[in-house]
Amino acid sequence: MFITPTRLAAWTIAAIVSGLAMSAAAQTETTPDTNPASALKRHTADTVSLDPKSPSYFGHFAPELAKTVARKPALDPETGLSVQEVKPGLFYVTDGIYQSAFLVTEDGIVVFDAPPSFAGRLPAAIAKAAPGDKITTLIYSHDHADHIGGAGVFAGVPGLEVITSRSVADSLAGDGYPGVMAPTRTFKGHLELSPGGVEIRLDAASYHSEDEDVIAYLPGLKFLIAIDTITPGEVPFMNFGATADFGRYLGVFDTLLAYDFDLLLPGHISILGTRQDVLDNRDYTYDVRDTVRAKMETMYRRFGEIHAATNHANDNLTYRMAIEGMRNECAGEIIDRWSERLSVVDIYADSHCETAILHYIMH
Ligand SMILES: [Zn+2]
Repeated sequence: MFITPTRLAAWTIAAIVSGLAMSAAAQTETTPDTNPASALKRHTADTVSLDPKSPSYFGHFAPELAKTVARKPALDPETGLSVQEVKPGLFYVTDGIYQSAFLVTEDGIVVFDAPPSFAGRLPAAIAKAAPGDKITTLIYSHDHADHIGGAGVFAGVPGLEVITSRSVADSLAGDGYPGVMAPTRTFKGHLELSPGGVEIRLDAASYHSEDEDVIAYLPGLKFLIAIDTITPGEVPFMNFGATADFGRYLGVFDTLLAYDFDLLLPGHISILGTRQDVLDNRDYTYDVRDTVRAKMETMYRRFGEIHAATNHANDNLTYRMAIEGMRNECAGEIIDRWSERLSVVDIYADSHCETAILHYIMH
């Protein structure tokens, strides 16, 4: 739990309340709880709680900023989807949690990803936007089930070309998901397509996945599809979009900004990004990096102090306490600096700080 001035008050009140509750319980309890399993449970720290008496009560977290909420598209109450033609022929689809897109051209329709959260509703959404047009191509952004695991809904499309990078295809061959079709066309580095004269550039990149990520760029539309990169209006998802490598993630902002785009589809939540969103997420991420780097200088001093304070009881406990100390200080500072600028910073700042700490312990 990280402490901001407002949260400190909530923490203090909650501690007093739970202290009162504990002393009341102590008066009636006759047998002390010596069960090791329940003792263990009490030491799982930082779990968000539904208990209003807990300092980690969910209600202590800040709501999303109004400026973020105002950007969310309304979902159709019947389908639970928002389907918008945001560029000529380019439709963006979201269920509020995941995103995909499809491009309608004179030569057929190209689909980008099929998140299982709404893939079952995707064929009908496409048919409604482009009645009678055939789907010709499906492009996989990377080998993660939450973005392509619903691809099987297109398994019956005759002659469908399924495209991704060679490396992603190799991963899929090793750990493919039920119903997800193997790619029919792969590439190394770059691939250019121009269905119906609309230019699509696919670039292999490396910032999130264990192997490769595929960025899709439509230069004529200034539209960029880069999945699991940033979250517009919000700080990045937990552990920086669950990146497999924080060092590579630090480079993704320059990679994105090198494209001439004005709309970015990042795959998560319901908002499309702009260049400013990339700059905001970059500044936030670099702030976490710099804050953590400064604290890493204190790590060995902390080891000594904690060892002494705990009477050298347990080396791993010392390690955890040193990391938690740096993480909580970092998260508190980051929340103070960012809570008015980006949403959900108090939900994820501790994970961001911890990801950076673990990275810089080894780099
Ligand atoms: Zn992913």
